[in-house]
Amino acid sequence: MGKIKHIGVLTSGGDAPGMNAAIRAVVRTGIYNNLKVTGIMQGYQGLIDGLFKPLKSHSVSEIIQRGGTILKTARCEEFKTEAGRKKAYDNLKKQNINGVVVIGGDGTFTGAKIFNEDYDIPFVGVPGTIDNDIFGTDRTIGYDTALNTAIQAIDKIRDTASAHNRLFFIEVMGAEAGFIAIRSGIACGAEAILIPEVKDQLKSLKKQLVEGSRRKKTSNIIIVAEGDEEGGAAEIANKVKDDFKDYSVRVTVLGHIQRGGSPSAFDRVTASRMGYAAVEALLDDQKSVMVGLKNNEIVQVPFRKAVKTHKEVNWELLELAGILSV
Ligand code: ATP
Repeated sequence: MGKIKHIGVLTSGGDAPGMNAAIRAVVRTGIYNNLKVTGIMQGYQGLIDGLFKPLKSHSVSEIIQRGGTILKTARCEEFKTEAGRKKAYDNLKKQNINGVVVIGGDGTFTGAKIFNEDYDIPFVGVPGTIDNDIFGTDRTIGYDTALNTAIQAIDKIRDTASAHNRLFFIEVMGAEAGFIAIRSGIACGAEAILIPEVKDQLKSLKKQLVEGSRRKKTSNIIIVAEGDEEGGAAEIANKVKDDFKDYSVRVTVLGHIQRGGSPSAFDRVTASRMGYAAVEALLDDQKSVMVGLKNNEIVQVPFRKAVKTHKEVNWELLELAGILSV
C-alpha cells in the first residue's frame, strides 16, 4: 500500500482561467485512486488558518467551464516565515493530509520548495498563471484563454483605430514577461510590440512610426507589455505623442478582463492533464516537482529548476512580428 491516502489541493497567487478544471482533475483522479481529497481555501493563508473543505466528486461538478477558482486564492506573507510554515505543517498533520497539489505561479512554487526542504509532506505543483512565465513548461494554465481574450479586445480596438487616424497604445498583462504581448501582437497584426525583455525600444519605435506615417498608414496598434521598463502604455504614449501630431493618440489598458472568462478548450484539456499528472506524481512518491507540458507531453520539473531558471520568450516570434508589420 502506498503512503498517500489523503491529499490536499489549493490555488495560490494570481487567479487564472482553467484553475477550476485543474482542481476538478485533482479531485476526480484522487477519488479514482481511492484517496480522500480536501480543498484548502485561499492558498497558503488557508493552510495556515486551517480553512479545509472535504471535496467529493460532485463538489467539482460543473466547474470545468468556469473562470476563477472555487478554492479562492490569496497572497500570503506569513507563509514566507518559518513560524507560518510550521503552522501550515501542523494543520496538515492534524488533518492527516499526506500530499498537497499546489496550483499557482513562481512564488507558489518557491514557497512549496522551501516547505519541502523542512517538512516531509510532499508538495507537487501545477503551473497556473496567465503570464506563461514559468520555466520547464511550454504553457501555463490560463495563458491561452488570456491571450484569446486580449485578441478579441484588440480586434475591436483596431476597428475604431482605422476609422480615424489613430495611434493606439494597448497595454496587456504578463507581469515581467512579454509572452501575452508577443502572441497577441502577432495575432492582431500589431505595428509594434514592446516587451520588458527588450531594452531601449523607444528610438526604434519612433523610427517605425515615422516610416508608417510616411507610407500613410491610417492606424497603428502598439502592444505594450505591462512590465515594460519604459513604463505602461500611458507613459509611453506620452513620450511619443508630440512627435506624431497627425495621429490622435489613444491608450487602452486591457486590465483584468484578461484574467476572467470561461477557459479555452486548450486550457481545459491542459489543466485536466496536469491535474491528473500531479496526483500521479504524488502516488509515485515524488515531491518538490512541478508538472509541465513540453512538446505536448507531460513532464516533471523540480521546483528548484522551475523557479530559478529564466524562461525566454520566443525571439523568432518577435522577429516575425517585425517582418510582418512592414
Ligand atoms: P502569479 O505568477 O500569478 O503572481 P505566484 O504564485 O507567482 O502567481 P506570488 O504572490 O508571487 O504569486 O506567490 C504566491 C504565494 O506563494 C505568496 O503569497 C506566498 O505565500 C508564497 N511565496 C512566495 N514566495 C515565497 C517565499 N520566498 N517563501 C515562502 N513562500 C513564498
